[in-house]
Amino acid sequence: MDRVEEGPDGEWKVRMVSGGGSEKVYRCPGCDQEIRPGLPHLVSWPNWTGGEGERRHWHTACWRKRTDRGPGRSRY
Ligand SMILES: [Zn+2]
Repeated sequence: MDRVEEGPDGEWKVRMVSGGGSEKVYRCPGCDQEIRPGLPHLVSWPNWTGGEGERRHWHTACWRKRTDRGPGRSRY
């Protein structure tokens, strides 16, 4: 199940990932640290046609924090 989140940086589709069954290590754009295999996290991408190509894996907490920096700052 995907949901749509609206933020100061636009609309995003967000999908929770249980982390089970994946051997891949992703790098979180929020903290630049690895997301280890098996760790529950989320995937987000811009909510427009073709946005799925921009998918990013985030720690759940980093995704929540990304908009705390206020408007006019970097999207990350
Ligand atoms: Zn992170």
